[in-house]
Amino acid sequence: MSRQDPEIADVVLGEMGREAAGLQLIAAENFCSPAVLAALGSPLANKYAEGYPGARHHGGCELVDVAERLAVDRATRLFGAEHANVQPHSGSAAVLAAYAALLRPGDKVLAMGLPYGGHLTHGSPANFSGRWFDFIGYGVDHESGLIDYEQVRLLARKHRPRAIVVGSIAYPRHPDYAAFREIADETGAYLIADAAHPIGLVAGGAAPSPVPYADVVCATTHKVLRGPRGGMLLCGAELATRIDRAVFPFTQGGAQMHSVAAKAVAFGEAATPAFRTYAHQVVTNARALADALEGQGFAVTTGGTDTHLITADPSPLGVEGRTARGRLAAAGLVVDCCALPYGDERGIRLGTAAVTTQGMRESEMPRIAELFSSALRGEGPKVAAEVRDLAGDFPPYPA
Ligand SMILES: *Cc1c(COP(=O)(O)O)cnc(C)c1O
Repeated sequence: MSRQDPEIADVVLGEMGREAAGLQLIAAENFCSPAVLAALGSPLANKYAEGYPGARHHGGCELVDVAERLAVDRATRLFGAEHANVQPHSGSAAVLAAYAALLRPGDKVLAMGLPYGGHLTHGSPANFSGRWFDFIGYGVDHESGLIDYEQVRLLARKHRPRAIVVGSIAYPRHPDYAAFREIADETGAYLIADAAHPIGLVAGGAAPSPVPYADVVCATTHKVLRGPRGGMLLCGAELATRIDRAVFPFTQGGAQMHSVAAKAVAFGEAATPAFRTYAHQVVTNARALADALEGQGFAVTTGGTDTHLITADPSPLGVEGRTARGRLAAAGLVVDCCALPYGDERGIRLGTAAVTTQGMRESEMPRIAELFSSALRGEGPKVAAEVRDLAGDFPPYPA
């Protein structure tokens, strides 16, 4: 690539350097394994494979069929699901397919409101979901930051939605899937779990599984799960055909077989004892980091976390979320902004999936929190050097 296309080679090498030189604390990011990258960069990328194993619209699919069957088998075993569809190109594509399988345009859907941590696919007017369905938003308690299940129940009784969505981009606690199931049953709604964030913790036994409760589980494969960028759907046998048809031919064309193979690799990794240890360490690290950030003066939403994800208000340190994100980025500490359960100010959202893959443990977390507060005090250049040192001790892809 360097010889043929130095411009793009520079981007790739530069990005490898950037990822290794700073701390990647974006809650949705991780470092997938060299085996996953090998599948992604393989000639499976060349293969057209519309349809499903044994029933393709193209010839020559005998080998990619093996890859997809392995991915499906491993996913169903890993999550204890009757059926898995591993073709969605992204988490959003998985949610679109779930809606396509269960809903008609104009149907009412109850989901976490976007100001509280709902995803774009949970009714944003800028997204197909907000355009084609009638979304009602539930919130979180302004003081505690926790889901108010009584509010969810009252909204479900009042609006009689066709589906209820449980899942968020920013909720740091375990949702009570049984409570959502009960509300859905009482009001005659489907329950869709959008477990894009916690599905990797579920795989490693570090978070409760939505699979026994939800009619359909939507997920990504690239967040804590540490696979390739992509989506996945899990459901019971009775919805299997509807889900498969909602992915292909309804919302997608040919499956990306390099990505499907990489998902199989990731599911294989996630079934190992090493991954269980990893998933639990991710949570231990997040709890330690949340505590240490509180110690530095950040107001941590819900007072902590059950997961890999932390949201915090930096305003006690004299900056709001957007300014904080900029100062942190200048020091090599990469985080997102997010909404906060109270007021209009922005907070920061971060996660420990990537730094844990690098091998960091709870002993590193207080140091990261100190670097955060130094960076916000404007000690950028000094902090950047310390961040580079710390990251250098934990290379994501050791030579
Ligand atoms: C990340 C996420 C998605 C979307 O995933 P993409 O792969 O970016 O499309 C959907 N829902 C939730 C709750 C998410 O966190």
